[in-house]
Amino acid sequence: MSKENILIINCGSSSLKFAVINPSNGDEIISGIAERLGEKESFIRWKFEGNKESITLDGGAHDAAVAALLHMLEEKGLKEGIAAVGHRVVHGGETFQESCLITEEVIQGIKDCIHLAPLHNPANLTGIEAAQKHFPELPMSVVFDTSFHQTMPAEAYTYAVPYKFYSEKGLRRYGMHGTSYRFVSQRVCEMLGMEISNSKIVIAHLGNGASCAAVLNGESVDTTMGLTPLEGLVMGTRSGNVDPNVFSFLNKEYGYSLDEITDILNKKSGLLGISELSNDCRVVEEAAAEGHKQATLALDVFCYVLAKQLAGMAVATGGVDALAFTGGIGENSDLIRAKVVKALSFLGFDLDEEKNLANRFGNEGVISTDGSRATALVVSTNEELMIAQDTAALIA
Ligand code: AMP
Repeated sequence: MSKENILIINCGSSSLKFAVINPSNGDEIISGIAERLGEKESFIRWKFEGNKESITLDGGAHDAAVAALLHMLEEKGLKEGIAAVGHRVVHGGETFQESCLITEEVIQGIKDCIHLAPLHNPANLTGIEAAQKHFPELPMSVVFDTSFHQTMPAEAYTYAVPYKFYSEKGLRRYGMHGTSYRFVSQRVCEMLGMEISNSKIVIAHLGNGASCAAVLNGESVDTTMGLTPLEGLVMGTRSGNVDPNVFSFLNKEYGYSLDEITDILNKKSGLLGISELSNDCRVVEEAAAEGHKQATLALDVFCYVLAKQLAGMAVATGGVDALAFTGGIGENSDLIRAKVVKALSFLGFDLDEEKNLANRFGNEGVISTDGSRATALVVSTNEELMIAQDTAALIA
């Protein structure tokens, strides 16, 4: 077996997603997730050669998960084909403008960004430490969710609060989903035969977390997430933009603490909060189809806010050649795409209903009519492939 595959690790506080990818052709050789890490019933499940398999971890945490992952890769004869490990890290602050190989300084740099992502960066570091322990011979890279947005101009990333909070503590907008935006903007140009150096692309990455971005000539010039992933669009459980005085209002009216309100806005709001049913867009769409009023309202708010913010992204790019939908909702929900593309008709979009229905469930392609002045399309994002390609390039 040639040694060119990349092991991708995406470590959360109680889960660890992994995949082995061939960076040359994008083949996903194996992929899986370890869940409920640190709990009694932790387990790993994965998909390999079309089969789904799983093992229990008996209460093991991240270290046990990576040890089990190593054992499983050895058993399947996949370990010797792995050339390097690529880690996904959420926050690189202003320190990391691009992906890099892991060194002591890089680890310190990620630690220095913990105050910007207190939930995510420590978990990412745990994954890096476990991988270094169990795969000591392999070079490792880190790919940051924030780095693609480091090209945003100051007018797009500066909050209108006292400047010293930025200069002293780095309080500014950073944005997330950068790896997806980098992949999708390149893919849009491939699909439409456009030169990336001469392109105005607006992208909606709509998963359980959702944001949109303005990509001008291949560089991010604005995005809707901010200091944290809470800012911007309505999401599965996140509120997106609210009046910051919501904090004092909820404190005075209900006595909630800062942490409780942060938790409500991050975990109990969005589609879930309005519908009082689910954060899962499919469930909300099904309920709305059956006449559930709050589910209908949740979708209406989701689409209205999305269209309004996409139009804002078009200000950053100074017009739009292409609008791409990606992520679980963007790649599958014809309903949401239809509402949003119609709301943006003033920017030159004309929806092709048939193409919109055809491009779901893994199919990607244009969903606007041939006569449409601007092109709307669906792109299947592939953040793992981007991480694998970055890692392969870094070790080459
Ligand atoms: P992601 O975080 O990218 O995996 O996306 C998860 C979201 O995609 C969930 O809200 C799902 O409900 C949504 N999703 C997946 N398939 C569909 C579908 N067919 N229609 C609407 N939403 C979908």
